[in-house]
Amino acid sequence: MRTTTFSLSLTCSWPSWTRVILIALLLGGCATNPSRTGTILDLTYSFDEDTVYWPTNEPFHWEKASWGPTLKGYWYASAVYSASEHGGTHLDAPIHFAESGWTVDEIPVANLTGKAIVLDIRSQVESNPDYSLQIDDIARWEDSYGLIPPKAVVLLYTGFGQYWPEKSRYLGSFTPEDPMTLHFPGFSAEAISFLLHKREILGIGIDTASIDPGQSRDFPVHQILGQANCYALENVAHLDRLPPRGARITALPMKIRGGTGAPVRIIAILP
Ligand SMILES: [Zn+2]
Repeated sequence: MRTTTFSLSLTCSWPSWTRVILIALLLGGCATNPSRTGTILDLTYSFDEDTVYWPTNEPFHWEKASWGPTLKGYWYASAVYSASEHGGTHLDAPIHFAESGWTVDEIPVANLTGKAIVLDIRSQVESNPDYSLQIDDIARWEDSYGLIPPKAVVLLYTGFGQYWPEKSRYLGSFTPEDPMTLHFPGFSAEAISFLLHKREILGIGIDTASIDPGQSRDFPVHQILGQANCYALENVAHLDRLPPRGARITALPMKIRGGTGAPVRIIAILP
């Protein structure tokens, strides 16, 4: 991204209102000049009654409380919502599977933006929906694109996003209400340990309902990640639109005090 230098010196000798106007003009110009920003993608699904939640969780509920013209003549609309923390496009805080891990509000905001690295395992998943990411897959990616850089958010592109929000296909089961029957891909314990200890990542993400594969029984990837005080993004949308590297990702969760997870708005800026 180009940087702009300007010779105007905004010192205290300028009247304060002049400085305010000048700063607003300069900032406004930067924000509206498309040549200076990459394309911004929204990697977030909208929340509604079809949003996929973990089978044992409370689904998203939204209801109009007031909706229409008031007696005084103006329009007024307001609604209420409720849901579990872990559903739709959301963030898992480290405390989800590690007692002393950060809660959602404790994750430093600097950790929520980083370099987006996309590992495409669609071909492995095509022949095995229970596939888990292997260290060999990471090695193959690095052969093509170089070492995973520091401050990376590693996103696993399995192709399961194409099934959203069709529960039985997305969760890989004709009985998606039963967690024992789910079939979808994820990370492996070996791969997450490698990423945490041999590389320097901020967090991980995936286009399925969980970073552990659907057939996992004790969620080792969640456990290992939480112990390292790193976060996960689940049900990430539109990973097909990201390049293998070069994009920047920002994931801002609702700041629930003490939260174990939260809905998250994820954007990526393409190079
Ligand atoms: Zn979760």
